[in-house]
Amino acid sequence: MVDVLGRFLNMGVEPYNFVSALNCILAQRLVRIICDSCRTAVHYPNDVLEASGLDPKQWSQVPLYEGQGCIECAGTGFRGRTAIHELLDLTDRIREMILDRKPSSEIRRVAREEGMRFLRESALDKVRGGFTTLKEINKVTFIETMR
Ligand SMILES: [Zn+2]
Repeated sequence: MVDVLGRFLNMGVEPYNFVSALNCILAQRLVRIICDSCRTAVHYPNDVLEASGLDPKQWSQVPLYEGQGCIECAGTGFRGRTAIHELLDLTDRIREMILDRKPSSEIRRVAREEGMRFLRESALDKVRGGFTTLKEINKVTFIETMR
């Protein structure tokens, strides 16, 4: 969502013009789904979890999977895609921040206070559910520490 804001502002669009016209901003990415035929449980060492911004205490208990690659998936380990998304609700407070051209980090902080779930969290849900891999979501979402 912050990308979207940045893109509008860089295009020279007056913030007022789009902020007043929108109720919310949806950001979506596609991640590949692990192949059913070759999915295998994997265990990552703590430093790998930490490098992905995950708390090892919490995540070492979560069963994680990867596809080994087989005939069904042409050796990729993935078959199909699923969407992850985040929705920024343009509340009055957020609108004002955009109009004031506040830094996106500040807007994100306020959005979080207002209950926004970010792309990264949506992606982590897919990992937790065994649908996709940690490496896959690290390619499409930023690693951020949630603490
Ligand atoms: Zn496969």
